[in-house]
Amino acid sequence: AHHNAVPQAGGGRHPPFDVHALRRDFPVLQERVNGRQLVWLDNAATTQKPQSVIDRISYFYAHENSNIHRGAHELAARATDAYEGARERVRQFINAPDVNEVIFVRGTTEGINLVAKSWGGQHVGEGDEIIVSHLEHHANIVPWQQLAAAKGAKLRVIPVDDSGQVLLDEYRKLLGDRTKIVAVTQVSNALGTVVPVKEIVDLAHRAGALALVDGAQSVSHMRVDVQEIGADFFVFSGHKVFGPTGIGAVWARRDVFEDMPPWQGGGNMIADVTFEKTLFQPIPNKFEAGTGNIADAVGLGAAIDYVNRVGMENIARYEHELLAYGMQRLGAVKGVRLIGTASDKASVMSFVLAGHDTEEVGQALNKEGIAVRTGHHCAQPILRRFGVETTVRPSLAFYNTCEEIDRLVAVLRQLAGQRR
Ligand code: PLP
Repeated sequence: AHHNAVPQAGGGRHPPFDVHALRRDFPVLQERVNGRQLVWLDNAATTQKPQSVIDRISYFYAHENSNIHRGAHELAARATDAYEGARERVRQFINAPDVNEVIFVRGTTEGINLVAKSWGGQHVGEGDEIIVSHLEHHANIVPWQQLAAAKGAKLRVIPVDDSGQVLLDEYRKLLGDRTKIVAVTQVSNALGTVVPVKEIVDLAHRAGALALVDGAQSVSHMRVDVQEIGADFFVFSGHKVFGPTGIGAVWARRDVFEDMPPWQGGGNMIADVTFEKTLFQPIPNKFEAGTGNIADAVGLGAAIDYVNRVGMENIARYEHELLAYGMQRLGAVKGVRLIGTASDKASVMSFVLAGHDTEEVGQALNKEGIAVRTGHHCAQPILRRFGVETTVRPSLAFYNTCEEIDRLVAVLRQLAGQRR
């Protein structure tokens, strides 16, 4: 009976796309900062949460809280249902073939570390090669670098052109029979470039390598279908798709996961333990040692429900227009240099303003209630490729508006010494 009471925010499907109605689903967007209504343009760092996600987590703790799988009582059953229901929502969200191929982790960083440590530890040896792109977030560089150092393997890098798009011809030249895995982002968090991951994965497979796609920046902006991409691993973070922090997922093909050793040992992941030997559970439990982040997994499930109600096609279409508007308005400000101008982009508008350091621009924006990230965005190699150490990085979500972009541009014009 408790299921009838599980919060179903929004009450059915949203009307086509009413950004002002959708904004009311996000309480924090009503917040005032320095006397102005908050403008949240730091979505690449983390997204805001709709009331339905907040309510779902609160409902879990009020009515369902228990550890999962182990207890033979009503609340254990409720918590297990809620947790496994969230796993099924993740499966649908990325169109994975099998719900047991979805492993809950802390986020993208933990997911990539799991793959590098477990799969990499088993399959990468001396003289082998790992390919990443120049666009990668540190989370998709450092674990591979650590693996390469431990194994005597080599990290190779796909270069990008001046727009920030990967150079596929150069990539082809890097592939060889020493290539074990190719790990690329689907959308760059620093430049917004949408990377042709399907082609990259295809080429990796033809060279006999596996492929991992980092979906941290893609899942909130476009429909993702892991079967269509054809990758072996796909990783994302809940907090970047309107869900809670501390929860994310790694998907891998069943046969790939089944061959991999567990990367952490403990409770929940075992079938039988003696002091001589441990037998492991099948996936997904094999990779979920210890008590996981049950409530936030349930919250992620609610975030996926929310996104489904709004409709990913609606989101993608609206954001496409918003991004075009933003790039055009920003590019017209005297002294602004846009960094990352690939024809296929999502959400992110990185720039520098002549005569002003990025931190100063960020502070001027914050004074007006506008939140953007300034800094290296955990992607130092790609910024250095463009000759900068830091940028100002406004990044869009579907709840942003043209008026918010106008407020951003007004501050920049003032800084640049222009009068409106
Ligand atoms: N990969 C990309 C492309 C990202 O943008 C981020 C976060 O900024 C990460 C990985 C790491 O995600 P998390 O910090 O949620 O583990």
